[in-house]
Amino acid sequence: MNPLHTTPSPKVAYFCMEFGLSNDIPTYSGGLGMLAGDTLRAAADLGVPMVGVALLYRKGYFKQEIAEGKQVEADVHWWPEQYLKCLDARVEVEIEGRTVLLQVWRTVIEGIDGHEVPVYLLDSDIEGNSDEDRRITDSLYLGDERYRLMQEIVLGMGGRRILAAIGFEPDIFHMNEGHSSLLALDLLRDELAEAGGFEADEAAFLAAVDKVKKRCVFTTHTPVPAGHDRFPKSLATKLLGEAWITFYSRLPGLHTAELNMSILGLELSGYVFGVAQRHGEVSRGMFPGREIHAITNGIHSVTWTGPSMAALFDRHIPHWRRHNYALRLAQSIPLEEIQAAHAVAKRTLIDEANSHGYELSEDLFTIGFARRSTSYKRPLLLLRDIRRLCDIASRWGTLQVVYAGKSHPRDHEGKRLIESVLRLQQELHPHVRLAFIPGYNMNLGLKMVSGVDIWLNTPMAPLEASGTSGMKAAHNGVPSLSVRDGWWCEGYIEGYTGWAIDPTHHAGEEANDADASQLYRLLDEEILPLYRRDPKGWAEVMRNAIAINGSYFNVERMVGEYLTRAYAGAR
Ligand SMILES: *Cc1c(COP(=O)(O)O)cnc(C)c1O
Repeated sequence: MNPLHTTPSPKVAYFCMEFGLSNDIPTYSGGLGMLAGDTLRAAADLGVPMVGVALLYRKGYFKQEIAEGKQVEADVHWWPEQYLKCLDARVEVEIEGRTVLLQVWRTVIEGIDGHEVPVYLLDSDIEGNSDEDRRITDSLYLGDERYRLMQEIVLGMGGRRILAAIGFEPDIFHMNEGHSSLLALDLLRDELAEAGGFEADEAAFLAAVDKVKKRCVFTTHTPVPAGHDRFPKSLATKLLGEAWITFYSRLPGLHTAELNMSILGLELSGYVFGVAQRHGEVSRGMFPGREIHAITNGIHSVTWTGPSMAALFDRHIPHWRRHNYALRLAQSIPLEEIQAAHAVAKRTLIDEANSHGYELSEDLFTIGFARRSTSYKRPLLLLRDIRRLCDIASRWGTLQVVYAGKSHPRDHEGKRLIESVLRLQQELHPHVRLAFIPGYNMNLGLKMVSGVDIWLNTPMAPLEASGTSGMKAAHNGVPSLSVRDGWWCEGYIEGYTGWAIDPTHHAGEEANDADASQLYRLLDEEILPLYRRDPKGWAEVMRNAIAINGSYFNVERMVGEYLTRAYAGAR
């Protein structure tokens, strides 16, 4: 029984391609995995009977190093047996007509009252599988299309079967993005076992679809069309076999020439939602005629509040760890104490940057920017007009910018953006000190969101589904300066919790110019004058960020909405 309900909460299997479980378990790449990890942490705190399912990734994602002004990708080495326990259960999936054996590793997330949420990570590296099949669960997001589909067969079909093998029978299957959608198809086939399986007649088929929908929930995460997993039918037929693809094609609305994981998830789920209110609107435009709800993301407050700020909350807001909405009471914390806690976090970040050879100072206004390096996130927007930026710095004092973020190894544009940031360091000198810290991960993320003075986010609207790093910053009293997109449409109160750049109606370079111009204006006319001339006014914005945004943009509220809306809505 969870505290939000008087009826027992449903048993939930939460499937995701990646999980940010801890800094040492490299089974994540970015925001999707972080959200998934935070969701399980909230389920553990709230006592929700949830389990997580993903792949093991013996080689993880890649490790980022910087050499000669470029991103260099190094291998990740980790030992699953240090953190996880291998179970005896084994299941099989069919790929290209071969039987692939799977085993599973287990770890648990312990909640604030000791409730445990198990996480199951599938592993194909076992004797009896071909050499190639043994590598299916090796690396996250790094293979070709065929490799990806093999992984998705393992995740969706293998994951569902392994839960059955260990005796966990979920009431709800929650597919966090389309990578696991095949689980719903597998469920549908099982539902038809007695009605002829693949050969079931139309009436039985449609009745089974209705039953599956009552058990499935789907979250869509990206407004970028290329972000939706699709496979050519020829490839899908080769891997899954003719029978599965014919079966898939019987679904209403699926007469397409491809295997589309998002549409599959959508068609077989009784409740579908986007990750912020704005993203819900954008998704309804992408999938016309379908009912798509919106549940705004959150972050795990305890995980993402730095130690000095957490100690301050402990002194003033006794129950904040268990009841995150109590962060509303931050409104009564004395401003000097918030400033002091932030100064400690800033020192920690400056030390981290300087350990990489930079010479940052805790006395300078510091802007933070960390995200996956890819073009729509526009890491160069702040550096678009160097003259103007240096001009602002000459008026208000030397500026510091701390950057981090990996680029997918095949995203050539993303890698070029990192090279540009590194190259511009010299040009900005001495007005702007720019540090790029390699290897963005959970630990560095926490140092950055808690240690900078403002958190910058410059996506090309409306391509940011939600974004969560700004929510982490808010918990640490760090206001955002962000394009009004994703969660910030709900989070910003101008000049009160941060500042918004209005997305323009222009496209391409014109939009970049217009957005950059607003960004400079806000820095020059609103943000720096407040910071430099009115420290108390600045500290009030910091406190508002905690009280207004920390108390709402957390996973306790989000998982509460999963229970009362998504899981209840599907059934
Ligand atoms: C929070 C986090 C993200 C996601 O943040 P966005 O705002 O969505 O970019 C990605 N990577 C790491 C390491 C994080 O901590």
